[in-house]
Amino acid sequence: MRIFLSILSLLMCFGLTPAHAERPLRVVATLSTFADLVKIIGGDYVEVSYIASPKFNPHFIEPKPSDVMKVKKADLFVHAGLDLEVWRDPLLSAAGNLKVMSGAEGELDLSRGIRLLEVPAQMPSRAEGDIHIYGNPHYWLSPENGKQMAKTIAEKLSVINPDHSDIYQQNLNDFLKRLDQMIADWKKQAEIIRGREAVAYHNEWVYLADFLGIGVSHFLEPNPGIPPTPKHIKGIEQYMLGKGIKAIVLTTFEPARAAEAVASRTNTSVLPLCQNVGEIPETGDYIAMMEYNIHQLTKGLQT
Ligand SMILES: [Zn+2]
Repeated sequence: MRIFLSILSLLMCFGLTPAHAERPLRVVATLSTFADLVKIIGGDYVEVSYIASPKFNPHFIEPKPSDVMKVKKADLFVHAGLDLEVWRDPLLSAAGNLKVMSGAEGELDLSRGIRLLEVPAQMPSRAEGDIHIYGNPHYWLSPENGKQMAKTIAEKLSVINPDHSDIYQQNLNDFLKRLDQMIADWKKQAEIIRGREAVAYHNEWVYLADFLGIGVSHFLEPNPGIPPTPKHIKGIEQYMLGKGIKAIVLTTFEPARAAEAVASRTNTSVLPLCQNVGEIPETGDYIAMMEYNIHQLTKGLQT
């Protein structure tokens, strides 16, 4: 025992500590979905938490003092970029952690490398309440983008913690292999609904719709983040009836009553989907969430 302790203190003198004594990287993600992907790639070398409960609209979270403390102590802050988290900059300012501020090594914007959709030719004004002014920020809902996000995370973890880059690369390869197998299955599953169309409460399904070859281009919200008006709803109902649309897709935190009223007047159904990991028990990880959403759409849009 005495010999062991002597060796240990000698190692510590030289700044060398046994592998099990290493502190995991403290990662704070804005969304549960990003936290899940970081854990998949980082494994035991990361300690991950997230700010926004998947049961609330991620655009409009109010971070708590405990969230500020988490960011203050973080080695890495992972977020969606664009204007998804309208609460992100105030949170970073309140935390004052220079390691994770915009442009610092400990900041990771997951929109990097993503082919963004609905990027406006001209910057619209926020006066109309639009919260998608840089393009549609809900890109994580396509599994093809999940691959890019996992690669971006592996690269960043390898920069911050190069000693374990082999492990991150291995975890990435395993995840991409699993996801590619699922993508092939999902594409096959969705053939039956190719070309079909749904209406949504909020404009958050464009990436998944693009992946599946379906249309989701009309919304109960007149602009992203703006509640429905009677005039707008009337126009949507006419559109649905004219096109023979069968379903209105809705997350758990969006107002079911508004969607159900439209569904009953147009003789359609409300189709629940999830926007983030953990929103319901069936969506416990990224692949399970994709599986759930694609299964729901495939079932709900068949004639
Ligand atoms: Zn949105």
